[in-house]
Amino acid sequence: AIAQLIDEQMAVEDWPKEFFEVGDNIYQSDLLLSSRLTAGQGLQSTFARGLKETLSEIDHSGLRGRGGAGFKTAMKWRFCAEESEQERYVVCNADEGEPGTFKDRVLLNSYADQVFEGMTICAALIGAKQGFLYLRGEYLHLYHKLENVLEQRRQSGLLGNNILGKDMNFDIEICLGAGAYICGEESALIESLEGKCGIPRNRPPYPVSQGYLNKPTVVNNVETFVATANIALHGGAWFAAKGTEKSQGTKILSISGDCLRPGIYEYPFGVTIRQILADCGAHDVLGVQIGGPSGTFISNQELDRILGFEDLATGGSFIVFNSTRNILDIVRNFTDFFAHESCGFCTPCRVGTSLLKKQLDKIVDGHGSAGDVVALEELTRLVKNHSHCGLGQTAANPIIHTLERYPDLYQSQLKKISYEPGFDLNASLE
Ligand code: NAD
Ligand code: SF4
Repeated sequence: AIAQLIDEQMAVEDWPKEFFEVGDNIYQSDLLLSSRLTAGQGLQSTFARGLKETLSEIDHSGLRGRGGAGFKTAMKWRFCAEESEQERYVVCNADEGEPGTFKDRVLLNSYADQVFEGMTICAALIGAKQGFLYLRGEYLHLYHKLENVLEQRRQSGLLGNNILGKDMNFDIEICLGAGAYICGEESALIESLEGKCGIPRNRPPYPVSQGYLNKPTVVNNVETFVATANIALHGGAWFAAKGTEKSQGTKILSISGDCLRPGIYEYPFGVTIRQILADCGAHDVLGVQIGGPSGTFISNQELDRILGFEDLATGGSFIVFNSTRNILDIVRNFTDFFAHESCGFCTPCRVGTSLLKKQLDKIVDGHGSAGDVVALEELTRLVKNHSHCGLGQTAANPIIHTLERYPDLYQSQLKKISYEPGFDLNASLE
């Protein structure tokens, strides 16, 4: 419905008021969602503790990027700070496009001050003067609210010149995406910020050395900045006390699908999938898509697996399917999504995702042979191994994961060849 309003070019002021009253539905809070951090608290602690010491606290917290990939946050910020180029940037990736992910929307709606606080702390630590919040086009309804928060922070001396009376100048600009999933990939996002088409760059060089305008740039997810604002106040040990050895702290999840209580949940890493399903009221579970279509599909035989970088990593998407769902329909839907969102820059993904869709349609519609399943498997390998960026490299995951878990399901769809009574196959072959 929002896309339609945008298409119709209706002014945001004229949108129906229900668009601005989307409930956050937070069912389970832990360290971050129960945080009562007020504007400026994290920044004051940063200055009181010292910049180097604050970076050490973030290091000790073990915080890893919350967009899904889990790169160590302190390491990323240190790399950027160590670049010789003096003009540096901070970018918050709020282009939350992974199907089933909506936790960043909630953080921006109810915890915006903490997001901007985390960005400002990052700027202090790496020496940046300009930050950007790259906001998903579909989150246009949050734009004015976020602008107001930024203005309040300027009035309170938390943005602008001489922040909190210190020798620090920094401000944040909000830039809107235009609905392309690929702009969530950090280098495509940077291209888009520069006003170009959102096509992923070659990496390396990573944005920490050549990002926005080819200057050193930190790009992090919304949740990562919220976590750093809280770590700056409470210290690294506070955060590291939760979670597992390899995955410290907590993770915020967007839970949707076949469950009684879809919404936002925050858990310490290490929680089992079974526990999460019990909490959100999911029954008769067939499988769960963790980390969105580009992530991992697990069956109901794997519910004792845990959330964490050592097992099931996720940017935050958690979609539950019950036994009324047809797995092949789900896979078709996700494969269609990737074919639609491919940016078209490289052939293995542009052509490969369309071929995956066609081949899958052929098999699922009952027109495939055993050879078609083999060809489908080969195609998944080709698209995964030869695509230029993460979109193409993960586009075949729904097929790969379900082929591994349910090979018989694919076989059961194959063309049933029937012959007339008395038909002699050998004779006809001669
Ligand atoms: P990546 O592992 O290549 O990089 C992760 C981060 O670490 C990036 O910021 C990158 O610049 C940095 N990095 C990696 N190696 C580095 C190095 N040697 N030096 C400096 N910096 C380095 O992962 P990616 O391709 O950026 O992201 C893929 C992830 O995004 C997937 O795990 C997926 O789950 C997630 N994802 C999230 C969403 C969402 O909506 N949140 C959508 C799609 C994908
Ligand atoms: Fe574009 Fe797909 Fe190639 Fe990525 S893999 S650059 S999305 S065509």
